[in-house]
Amino acid sequence: MRKKIYLSPPHMGNYELHYIKQAFDENWIAPVGPHITAFENELAEYVGANGAVALSSGTAAIHLALRLLDVKAGDIIFCSSLTFIASVSPVIYQGATPVFIDSEPQSWNMSPRALQYALEEAEKKGKLPKAVIVVNLYGQSADMDPILELCDHYDIPIIEDAAESLGAIYKGRSSGTFGEFGIYSFNGNKIITTSGGGMLVSKNLEALEQARFLATQARDPALHYQHSVLGYNYRMSNILAGIGRGQLLVLNEYISKRRKIFERYYEALYSIEGISFMPEVDGGRSTRWLTAMTIDPDISPVSAAQLVEELNNNGIESRPIWKPLHMQPIFRDKTFYPHSEKEKISESLFATGLCLPSGSNLSYEDQGYIINCIKKRLAQKRKI
Ligand SMILES: *Cc1c(COP(=O)(O)O)cnc(C)c1O
Repeated sequence: MRKKIYLSPPHMGNYELHYIKQAFDENWIAPVGPHITAFENELAEYVGANGAVALSSGTAAIHLALRLLDVKAGDIIFCSSLTFIASVSPVIYQGATPVFIDSEPQSWNMSPRALQYALEEAEKKGKLPKAVIVVNLYGQSADMDPILELCDHYDIPIIEDAAESLGAIYKGRSSGTFGEFGIYSFNGNKIITTSGGGMLVSKNLEALEQARFLATQARDPALHYQHSVLGYNYRMSNILAGIGRGQLLVLNEYISKRRKIFERYYEALYSIEGISFMPEVDGGRSTRWLTAMTIDPDISPVSAAQLVEELNNNGIESRPIWKPLHMQPIFRDKTFYPHSEKEKISESLFATGLCLPSGSNLSYEDQGYIINCIKKRLAQKRKI
């Protein structure tokens, strides 16, 4: 039996255990500890942010960003529709209402055209969103220039969900550093992992200090545990921060590995009729966290969903593209702004797209096996 091939499994480098051991030796198991501050500084330097706060998850980072922007019940928040639910769950935690914005074909991320239309409509109704959550999918930045221009014009802060795009570049700058706040995730399937964790980054050091305060139960400076506002237990542990420091050392190597994996899939499959790959946005450099492709159901013998099933039957984990949030049962009654009157890009990407195993530890041989499985299936005749 072949070993199962996973989509994006953890990949430890050479220094994670060293940092964990250091935490044990110095008994910095809890609370806080020197790895946390070091990880924050090292990550902030890597992405070119003024500062960073290490947290228990990317979801917690989004939640804190919303709190810092004073998002509360009755507020409206715009959010990319094509994403994982964690991008928007904290909007609901705050009692605010999400409005979903479609993708564009060039980047698969937020459509500036749909955003413009949604903002114009919001202005007409006299209620602009309190923030816009821009999601950077599968290792790629959104086309930030037009999005920044629009949000600047209406004076609306951006939260960048860069959970999937740590290490990606857009016009010379790191993905996650364009908005008022940016967030990263170190969940088990991300490009680097601390087993679970997240990071909030910003230019605004005062806001980050407030995030640290809220993330540690909002304790007023008094010995007797005094609280004036409500906080959370959202801090990252010193041990996990140690893992993060080790992972940061190999991030560049992992990015080039994932890009090479993408290139090999591309070379092997692009000439097959009906197959397309996620494009790289103008001025952007994707990490290719996951290789994502679409299959035209009118041309190919299988649909994306059938190929996912076929690969799974062969011990290969693959996944459909995210089911857009506006199509989720839980958000049935929420507003959605499509890319154009005729095109709902996120819906067609969901209907035709899938992600292929892309881990930085995927072996050359295993990738060859995956490619052969795909080629074999796509070479079969269509069933009439
Ligand atoms: C993984 C992910 C998150 C959530 O991060 P966690 O650390 O798992 O809370 C948020 N948004 C996107 C797009 C993600 O892929």
